[in-house]
Order: sequence, then structure tokens, then C-alpha cells
Amino acid sequence: MGSKEEPRISCEKFLEDALGLLDVSQEMRQLLRSPYREVCFELPLKRDDGSTSLFHGYRVQHNQSRGPFKGGLRFHEDVKLGHFVALGEIMTWKTSLLDLPFGGAKGGIDCNPGELSEAELETLTKRYTQRLAMLIGPDHDIPAPDMGTGPREMAWILDAFTHHKGFIPDVVTGKPIELGGAKGRLEATGYGVAQITALAAEAEGIELEGASVAIQGIGNVGSFAAKRLAELGAKIVAVSDSSCGLYHKEGLDIELLLQQLRRNEGKRRKLSELSGDYQQISNEELLELPVDILIPSAIGGVINEENAGRVEAKMIVEAANMPVTCTADAALVARGICIIPDILANSGGVTVSYLEWVQNRQRYQWTKERTLEELEERLARAWSEVQQRVREQQLNYRLAAYTIAVGRIIRAINLRGF
Ligand code: NAD
Repeated sequence: MGSKEEPRISCEKFLEDALGLLDVSQEMRQLLRSPYREVCFELPLKRDDGSTSLFHGYRVQHNQSRGPFKGGLRFHEDVKLGHFVALGEIMTWKTSLLDLPFGGAKGGIDCNPGELSEAELETLTKRYTQRLAMLIGPDHDIPAPDMGTGPREMAWILDAFTHHKGFIPDVVTGKPIELGGAKGRLEATGYGVAQITALAAEAEGIELEGASVAIQGIGNVGSFAAKRLAELGAKIVAVSDSSCGLYHKEGLDIELLLQQLRRNEGKRRKLSELSGDYQQISNEELLELPVDILIPSAIGGVINEENAGRVEAKMIVEAANMPVTCTADAALVARGICIIPDILANSGGVTVSYLEWVQNRQRYQWTKERTLEELEERLARAWSEVQQRVREQQLNYRLAAYTIAVGRIIRAINLRGF
């Protein structure tokens, strides 16, 4: 996370704001705030050179009142239990807002995948899975990729889990297509970001055709969002990765940039290695550009108490999880800047994960078109529910989305009983 503000603080504040608008008992508040289960364990790994490294595995299961726990696995050297508590809670609200029959969870390992060989990573991922085997499963907890993990790691998890249990592809989503992954999963989150951005722009009176857009983080989510928004006529004036940002007032050629990023013997290039008709800027400068739409699509906490006053965008679409801290959120909302919250903006990924799980249970694979069509329908439905709540109760988008999501969880808990 990129801010001094703890992600848990923001998480608690957003939940508290929503609870303030709902009729909730003290016991229910406590239940919603605290995770169902937090697991943390040692992961020693014998390295290729014979030495031993000690890593830690985490899984936080936040809530399962509407279905099995669901959430990604993050491999990053800086992760701590607190990150997963916050991110697991966000997953509960996200699956609820999209009306998916899942709860929320998040986990991972405090390793830097870039410093491990493929064989070391495979061993570590499979050991992590073995340690968690009794807690995960298609009806219990279904992991998926997040930062630092992808289809390759999901395939290793599938292998480790199903070793003694028979083939159970629905234990994990975001798998390679050959092992039951959903066609369209790769594009899903970015395309969903673009769809929600287009709907929000229309609602906020921003003409998407020609609108200026800055995207921080041209990775999986950012690149597909940029591609689709450019197709819809938006002018992508700036993009960045961890090396730097690129800016052109009249708009960047996104297709060409993505092509250049790919061309390095299978490895992705960095933006700082490219040259062209644009200006190099820093990631901090990108966030402060006077654009119509800003899409933080990299890491959490990048818009915080230090820089919120300098953000000039008319609208912020949270493609990353928790890129705007609660302090910044309050300051931006007070300045009339519209924020489309992560639990709506980036929900395309978990929605297609759900569709993958459904297909796995049927032992059937849909076409990419069918999956993306179903995604579009579900996102449009969630958007219109949020927009209706915004209008009827005069709320901002985050509060509207949270009150819908948290309200559904409260109803499920009350129906099931304690
Ligand atoms: P990714 O690893 O493919 O891409 C991340 C991008 O951010 C890369 O371009 C990287 O260079 C850049 N980046 C990393 N650190 C940075 C920094 N400090 N400053 C600026 N840029 C930086 O990851 P992704 O899958 O695209 O995920 C991006 C975000 O979206 C994450 O917050 C993730 O949790 C969230 N998200 C992803 C999905 C999904 O399906 N992939 C779903 C929901 C939410």
C-alpha cells in the first residue's frame, strides 16, 4: 500500500459511514467489522542454492453469510495480515454488491516472486495450498489471482489441492483455459472498469467521446481498461507503470504502446524503456493532471491526505483496490469530485470468477462472447441499483454501493441466525 494511512483505517471508516445509515445493532456491527477467521503460518523454503528462506502465508476469511469465501492471493514482500483483513472485507462487500453467491476473503505470501525461480515458486505455492487444504474448497473458500499471481499459480494450487481428492477445478478461479479457466477472465476486470466508467461519465454529464483520461498502472486491469476506453472514443492522455508515466495532451496511441510493451521476447518492457512523441512524467504527476477521468489501477493508498488537494480530475474510478484513502475520500467529495468505488468499478474480475466456478460445476466451458455478455449484464444491473440509491437517497457513489452491499449481508445473517 502506498500511504502512511493503514488500509484498515479506511476500510473501517467506509463501513462505519454505511452503518450510520442502516439500522444496525451493536452485535451486528461487531460481526461485520471482524473477520470470521485469520490464518497466518510459517512457510520455510529450501532454495535452489541449498539455503533456506522463511516466508509467511496468510488467509483472512471475512464473511460467508451469502456463500463460500472468495478472494485473491497476493504474492508481495510487503504484505501483512492487516492488508488481508482490509482486502478480505472489501471482497465481502464486492461479491454482495454484485449479488454473487459468495463471501469475502484474501490471502497470500510475503515473498517477492521476481526473486524466486519458477521451481521455488511452484514449491512455495503448493506448500501454501497444502497448509490451507482443510480450509479451502469449492463450497468453502475459492482463491483467485491478485497482484503477483496469475493462471500459472492457480494451476499449481489446483494440482496440490486435487492430488488426493480427484479433479476439482472449482477450488480455484483464474486458471489457464486448458484447466477450466473462463474465456474472457483476463480482460474481465479492465473491460468492466471501462463499462462502469462509461456509465458513470454519462450520469455525471461527461462526454466520453474526447474525454481526457489518465490511468495509473498499465498492467492487466489498466491495459484492458485503456484499450476499451480508447475504442469508446476517450482520449487516454497518460498511463504509467512502476518505472514512470507517459503523457501526451492530445492522447497516446494505446494500441501501439501495448504492442511495444509486449515486444521483448515474451517479457514485458517497462514504459521507461520506450521512446516516442510524449513526455515522461512521474506517477505522482500523473495523479495531479487536469483530466476529466483519473483511473488509479495499480496499488492502494496512492491518493491520500498528502496529495488529495492537488487532484484535479472531475471523476476518479477506483480500478485498484482502495487507491483512495478515507481522508482523501472526504476531502475529494467535499470538493465535488465524483468517486466510483472499487467494489463497483473493479468487480468485473470476481464476476467472471463466479462464471468460471459455475462453468466448472457444470463441467462445461462457455464461449468468450457468452461470458463477456453475462458480465456486461451483471455490471449494468449493479450500476443501475447503485445509481438509483444515489438518486433516491442523495448519497455519493461509495455510500450508495456500501449501503446496498452491507444491507444484503445483514439480511443474510439475520435470516440464517447467529
Ligand atoms: P498487474 O500486476 O498486472 O499491474 C499492476 C500495474 O501497476 C503494473 O503496470 C505495475 O508496473 C504498476 N505498478 C506497480 N507498483 C506501482 C507503483 N508503486 N506506482 C505506479 N504503478 C505501479 O496488476 P493488476 O492485475 O492489473 O491489478 C492492479 C490493481 O487492480 C490491484 O490493486 C489489484 O488488486 C486490482 N484488481 C485486480 C483485479 C484483476 O482481475 N486483475 C481484479 C480486481 C482488482
